[in-house]
Amino acid sequence: MKILIVEDEPLLRDGLTDLLKGAGHRVEAVADGASGASRGVEDAFDLVLLDLMLPKLDGIEVCRRIRKARPALPILMLPARGSEEDKVRGLKTGADDYVTKPFGAKELLARIDAIGRRAEAAPADAEKVECDGLRFDLGKCIAFRGKQEIGLTARETGILRWLHRHRDRAVTREE
Ligand code: CA
Repeated sequence: MKILIVEDEPLLRDGLTDLLKGAGHRVEAVADGASGASRGVEDAFDLVLLDLMLPKLDGIEVCRRIRKARPALPILMLPARGSEEDKVRGLKTGADDYVTKPFGAKELLARIDAIGRRAEAAPADAEKVECDGLRFDLGKCIAFRGKQEIGLTARETGILRWLHRHRDRAVTREE
């Protein structure tokens, strides 16, 4: 994968770069939020690793800008341990997943592999989902049981989308 790292901590940035290159990925690393947003929007990356506390533009805003321009680009946030509020804000802004710092190399690589597999397996229209005799049109917040149409709230749709996106693992109540 071609991966963009947005991380202002030099040791972590270099460490991540080496780790991901060693795993066979192509990597570009930038040190502040403004560069992260512009690179993420301009170039065709397969994944963005995004720190939250960043100079010039914070990670939430970077995520929002990239998400707006590139709705399908996976974004993996790297919040510090204990910053529960940031995680929730990140996920609401459209981050795909997060790995809490400090993390182990194996954990991070496993998450990145999972994102790569999901991207490969994603159907052309990820908003249309079938499960247990129900069809969901998540883009329109509607479920169908046979011909019966069932309206969904935005929150219900958000939970369904999250569960579907992470169907290969358990999700926490907090998520
Ligand atoms: Ca930081």
